[in-house]
Amino acid sequence: MDIQAFFKVTYGLYLISSMDGESYNGHISNTVFQVSAKPARFAIASHKDNLTTEYIRKSKVFSISVLQEDIDMDFIGPWGFQSGKDIDKFLAVNFKRGKSGVPIVLDKSIAWFECELLEETDTGSHIIFIGKVLDAQLLDDKKLPLTYTYYRDVIKGRSPENAPTYIEREKPGETGLSADTGNGESKKGTPGPAKYKCTVCGYVYDPAQGDPPAGIPPGTPFEEIPGNWTCPVCGVQKIDFKALREN
Ligand code: FE
Repeated sequence: MDIQAFFKVTYGLYLISSMDGESYNGHISNTVFQVSAKPARFAIASHKDNLTTEYIRKSKVFSISVLQEDIDMDFIGPWGFQSGKDIDKFLAVNFKRGKSGVPIVLDKSIAWFECELLEETDTGSHIIFIGKVLDAQLLDDKKLPLTYTYYRDVIKGRSPENAPTYIEREKPGETGLSADTGNGESKKGTPGPAKYKCTVCGYVYDPAQGDPPAGIPPGTPFEEIPGNWTCPVCGVQKIDFKALREN
C-alpha cells in the first residue's frame, strides 16, 4: 500500500468543542463534512480516547468552529496536541455558549455551527458523530478557511497521534510520538547531551536517537541540529523546545 496516496485526500481543519456540565473541552479535527442540506446535518470523526468524545456522548451536543488560514502553531498546539485531561483549553480563548449551552470557540474562526447529536458509528479507533445543525454564524467573510494541505505545506504542521490522518513513522524506535517518554535523566554517572521537550506537543528529542527521517543522525546534540529543523510531531521550531535538564 502506498501511504503517499493518503496525502491526496483533501480536508479542512476545524475546532470541535463540547461540554460536560460546566467543563468544556475541544480539539482540532480534519474530519468534518456536511452530509445533507435539508435537513442540515454534519458528520465529524473523533478518537475514542479524546475527552471531547466523552463530552459529546454525555451532553449530546457539539460545535464546529471553522478555523482561518491565518493561524499559527501557538494557537493550534493546545487544541491539537494537548489533552483536556491535562489543561483547560478554554482559559485563554474567546468563546460563547450556543442555544444548547455548548461552547463555541470564536478565536481564529471564520464561521461556526452548533449541532445536536443524532447518532454515532464506531469505526474502530474513531467515532463518527452525526449532528443536526441547531444554529450557525458567519464570523468573517474575507479570511480563507484553513485547509489540511495549507497546514502541512505552509504552516509545517503535523498530525497528532489521535487524528484520523495520522500515519505512524515506519522505522521502529523512531516514532518519537509518545509524549513524555523520557525524563531527561541519563544513567547514573553517564551524563550525556540533554533531551529537549517540545512545549507545544510534548515530543521529546533524544540526542541518542536523533531524528533520522529529518536527516538528524543518532548522537546529535540538540544544539547542533540545524536551525530550520522542526518538531517532527507538531512542526514548531527549535525555539519552542526546552531542555529537560542542564548538562
Ligand atoms: Fe511539537
